Amino acid sequence: MLRKQALLLVNIGQLLTLHSVSGKVGPRRGRELREVGIIHDGAVLCVGGKIVSVGTTRAALRDPWLNKSRRRFLEIDCRGKVVLPGFVDSHTHPVFVHPRLVDFEKRIEGASYEQIASAGGGIRSSLEAVRAASSSELTEKVSDFLRQTASYGTTTVEAKSGYGLTRDSEIKSLKAILQTAIAWPGTVVPTFLGAHVVPKEFEGRSQKYVESVCKDMVPVVARRKLARFVDVFCDKGAFNGREMEQVFEAAAAHHLEVRAHVCQLSPTPLAPFLRFHPASFDHMDHVSDADISTLAAHDTVATLVPGANYFLGLATYPPARKLIDAGVPVALATDFNPGTSPTISMPMAMSLACTHMKMLPTEAISAATINGAWALRLADRKGSIEPGKDADLAIFDVRDFREVPYWFGANRCYRTILNGTILPEI
Ligand SMILES: [Zn+2]
Repeated sequence: MLRKQALLLVNIGQLLTLHSVSGKVGPRRGRELREVGIIHDGAVLCVGGKIVSVGTTRAALRDPWLNKSRRRFLEIDCRGKVVLPGFVDSHTHPVFVHPRLVDFEKRIEGASYEQIASAGGGIRSSLEAVRAASSSELTEKVSDFLRQTASYGTTTVEAKSGYGLTRDSEIKSLKAILQTAIAWPGTVVPTFLGAHVVPKEFEGRSQKYVESVCKDMVPVVARRKLARFVDVFCDKGAFNGREMEQVFEAAAAHHLEVRAHVCQLSPTPLAPFLRFHPASFDHMDHVSDADISTLAAHDTVATLVPGANYFLGLATYPPARKLIDAGVPVALATDFNPGTSPTISMPMAMSLACTHMKMLPTEAISAATINGAWALRLADRKGSIEPGKDADLAIFDVRDFREVPYWFGANRCYRTILNGTILPEI
């Protein structure tokens, strides 16, 4: 049985609080991404799943109340370690049954994303198994994913449906997410992605499918409170701008918030969609300069998922430098999915951000924590180590925070604290 006990972390070599230096409210932009709020020899006290105090070990141990109550806390000696806010993975697709190994081989042999899709692979090839799967089979898959992701330091996860694409299988997928979330000590944000691709039975009739998403699915998702967000994959081979607008309108009519996959394979003008106040635009490989300037004045986060570029073997990556330098708030996520980004590792996403998108380790950490929280509209509770926020922390067995993205492919996470529950247990 997992226990949410009072925790006192002491002697932390480097404690990265990510607290806001400027005091400004809103996602971090430009130079703010480099401010990670380091405390040397830090201490954090967590009680009842919340962070109660943050400071140096010396100051903490001088506190008479804390000293008197010290034996009631589980004390964790973090000497020679780094503590960060738990990662917020704001873009994942965990409800699938099989890895896509045929696609993997075909791609190695030279097939493109579009060629794989037209040969019956890609997103559509995951549909059959999800439609046939029992609820418990899907629940088991999602819970495996959550268990593993926590071991890499992730404490909050956005999880999308989108491999069923019928009313019933989408409901089944979202229920699997919600069911699993209850048993996991971390935080899960469900997203309805009925507009992922046009399923085979609607081939050549994408408008009919969009109508079904808007009229048959979105209202049920809203009524049964199965998701917080509605997502759309707007790109060639998926849905166009007009169709995205229709889905966003349906979401708004049912008081659901929106986010979207955009500009992964081809450019889409984004400014017209800002009237829906999307929480996030994800991928952004082909975002235009005009949209970059526009987005700099908005709170919609650009969520970059370099795992997909890496796994597809692409030579180019999303223009992180351009976005950051222009003042667009940027987040990082894994895009965990069976076709294009089968990784649960936020440190790996950060490593790719550093090596292929020229983000500094400080920028990558801000993008993987506080800006991920903004991308999910949870920044009041998540993304930084500050009194009052949820006790979500990741302890890394490294001396310098820059080692987190540096040791790529390795897992240096020592313990993860999710809403005050420590894993693995001590
Ligand atoms: Zn995705």
